[in-house]
Amino acid sequence: METTAPLIDPFARAISYLRVSVTDRCDFRCVYCMAENMTFLPKKELLTLEELDRMCSTFIRLGVEKLRITGGEPLVRRDIMTFFNAMTRHLDSGALKELTLTTNGSQLAKFAEPLYAAGVRRVNVSLDTLDDQKFADITRWGRLKQVIEGIDAAQAAGLRVKINAVALKGFNEDELFTLQDWCAARDMDLTFIEVMPMGDLGNEDRLDQYWSLKDLRARLEDRFTLIDLAERTGGPARYVQVQETGQKIGFITPLTHNFCESCNRVRLTCTGELYMCLGQEDMADLRAPLRASSDDAVLEDAIRKAIALKPKGHDFDYSRQSVDGQVSRHMSHTGG
Ligand code: SAM
Ligand code: SF4
Repeated sequence: METTAPLIDPFARAISYLRVSVTDRCDFRCVYCMAENMTFLPKKELLTLEELDRMCSTFIRLGVEKLRITGGEPLVRRDIMTFFNAMTRHLDSGALKELTLTTNGSQLAKFAEPLYAAGVRRVNVSLDTLDDQKFADITRWGRLKQVIEGIDAAQAAGLRVKINAVALKGFNEDELFTLQDWCAARDMDLTFIEVMPMGDLGNEDRLDQYWSLKDLRARLEDRFTLIDLAERTGGPARYVQVQETGQKIGFITPLTHNFCESCNRVRLTCTGELYMCLGQEDMADLRAPLRASSDDAVLEDAIRKAIALKPKGHDFDYSRQSVDGQVSRHMSHTGG
């Protein structure tokens, strides 16, 4: 594939990582992510699988080397394997270094093998608790057993699994070590995510849910020696190694840390809006230029113009005990 000048934003950050939401739908209704009664987008609003291919291929031509597929729940999108299989050609050519996804795990038993065959090697599975009842409560519609079976299938297929757990005050505080032990026993890395002020979910009080990862880390340090790792992904994650077990633990702290200076990513929604920053309302519509012309140069031009608008950083702030910088869209819209 022909390549052109790479994407560099106004702050000299090269954009090499694209996260793509392929659907706004989900088979769960996690309380911090969605309201119970969600209205989903009509089908014509969504990028078709062919359009997603064209969009991603254009980004790859502009230097994107890592693609993470997310949602909503990416594996509930009809015929999603057609899209993954289409991306395999970019892995084969070497232009794409990694094709991966974030999933709730509910459909992994069915998809683990085809995903591996398409070239996926790692998956992030979101899982906040190992208690059946608590799992049913937090996801509203999910069943823990199904997710564990999905994780089993993923590991059996040869996929490396990382668990993402949202740290929730009064909910999974007491499972910190249980989750850690469980992941260590299964040779899975574990990342904790601080809850973010996304969307209006009606009855949930976000300050009530907020459990600072600083506190979580301090609790881990009561029991273990944590060695800071230099590893940086260009995102809000920081990693430590547990000296006693060798396990890697990540902390995603978008609210308490400034990670923006090394940000290398942009996010595409399932309707073709490009968000240059997770914490800002600014976005560029790429669906219109995509649909307006079959000439990829038009789309390329729109992408370059969007990247030129990437802001320096986000405005989330809990420090004044109010949720400042809250953005109105749901996490399932931009894909997390
Ligand atoms: N359905 C898939 C899943 O759950 O992994 C992919 C989409 S989901 C929106 C991506 C990640 O965002 C999940 O790990 C989820 O826990 C996280 N998430 C959702 N709402 C959040 C919030 N308000 N704050 C922090 N993380 C959130
Ligand atoms: Fe669905 Fe993922 Fe949101 Fe949960 S976090 S409701 S699984 S999109």
